[in-house]
Amino acid sequence: MLRDQKFLSSIETEIRQNGRSAESAVARVVKEIFANLMGSGIPLAQDKSHDILDIGRRLVTCLSPTGSVEESLGEHRIIVASSLTPSELVRFAKLGAVGFVTETCGAKSHTAILARGFGLPLITGIPEVQDRIPEEAEIVLDADSGLIFVNPNETEKPRVTELLDQIRIPKEPLPETQIPRTKDGEDITVLLNISAPEEADAVSRFHAAGIGLFRTEFLYIDRENWLTEEESFEIYQQVAERLDNLELNVRLVDFGAEKSPAYADIPINRNPSLGLRGIRLLMQREDIFRPQVAALTKLAKVRPITVHVPMLDTLDSWDATVEKICRFSGCRRRSDLPFKLGAMIEVPSAALMIEQLAPEVDAFSIGLNDLTQYLLAADRDDEVVGSFHDAMQPAVLRLIRQLAETADRHQRPMTICGELAGDPHLTGLMLGLGIRRFSVSRSNYQDVVRILNRLSLAECRQIASRILQMRTGAEVRDFVSHNLFPK
Ligand code: PEP
Ligand code: MG
Repeated sequence: MLRDQKFLSSIETEIRQNGRSAESAVARVVKEIFANLMGSGIPLAQDKSHDILDIGRRLVTCLSPTGSVEESLGEHRIIVASSLTPSELVRFAKLGAVGFVTETCGAKSHTAILARGFGLPLITGIPEVQDRIPEEAEIVLDADSGLIFVNPNETEKPRVTELLDQIRIPKEPLPETQIPRTKDGEDITVLLNISAPEEADAVSRFHAAGIGLFRTEFLYIDRENWLTEEESFEIYQQVAERLDNLELNVRLVDFGAEKSPAYADIPINRNPSLGLRGIRLLMQREDIFRPQVAALTKLAKVRPITVHVPMLDTLDSWDATVEKICRFSGCRRRSDLPFKLGAMIEVPSAALMIEQLAPEVDAFSIGLNDLTQYLLAADRDDEVVGSFHDAMQPAVLRLIRQLAETADRHQRPMTICGELAGDPHLTGLMLGLGIRRFSVSRSNYQDVVRILNRLSLAECRQIASRILQMRTGAEVRDFVSHNLFPK
């Protein structure tokens, strides 16, 4: 494609004759080819059209070194884009962007997760957003209600002033005495999800129980080369220092799909969610796997940690993974490992083998975003199927009940994490299904604790047992909104 004369000459024409910058010329030509392929009505051509977008994005990345963007991003900038990859979001956030508006981006996508982690507003789902918001416009985002004010007029100004005043009043932190305990006295463990060491500051601020999920892949994303063992160890230590002796759960890198760093030589799968990602990818890439395990081994010698295997699919993979982890940490046997070894339950095949996994795994973590995605065949990143990615479906709830019951019987801690775990509408339901450990992003922490304080475990159990008899997601949703809705 890059050698295609027609492609190159169209870009050249845009630059020479229409005076566009190289980036803009590439973007324009790529957009045109994409539109033609999509409009062709030929399924194979439509299928390939996304590869063209990918080529365009890579070319634009090569043409815009971070340095030049750095100089041009001023204060109080909101980024308006048709879409944003996680690495783009991280880069703009680090350059001081204060908010994002995009055309496409699922609420449970990693881009959205990172925005939440940075505590930055992101509004998405606005068609042709770049045409509708002129460059340099004054924009005010109210992400709580999904409103965007573009060059606010006289009638909108009072509302905007009101919003700005609200932001200036700092949110009351939860008092130290407000612990995650239900109304009827059951203590619940609430941990935090993080993607960067600085996010761990929130643990002491909220008096959280520790880190339930450290998504380490994002440490690699805004760099130009791999982290060495020493660099990784240093970062892990920075997190550990922020935790004193609280719990720390680190997930091995979950590369693949849209989470691969630009410099990684990771194949682009035809369907990234079903391709080489998570532990499948690590097993083929000792250059990534070995230094990470070595760094974690070092950390485990100074403090307790649990290391989680991402996207586990089968016991065949588990056996092979354990063998490699032992080798990389210099241990002869599994029992010699200096850390606990956990499994992420995100793939239905692993969920169905929970009974066989439980005796061999020290801890479980349910990745509810992916588990829901794979169980219901609904892409978590695609807002077109957003309503199908529905954790209130009886199939999802029955599986969670089965997972919680099995983990409990084997006395294995089971934490539910992922964006859905932090949805306060689901907290009571998860509690009733047997979940006692939640790991949530910092923007959801306080709401989850508040709702726990208002719920009674006994009632949640009764409600869950009724819900498990239901046929449809609609019935569940209706029942939850009347009986468990956080008022
Ligand atoms: C999940 O899938 O729910 C999860 C916790 O992992 P991630 O969101 O990073 O894919
Ligand atoms: Mg996942």
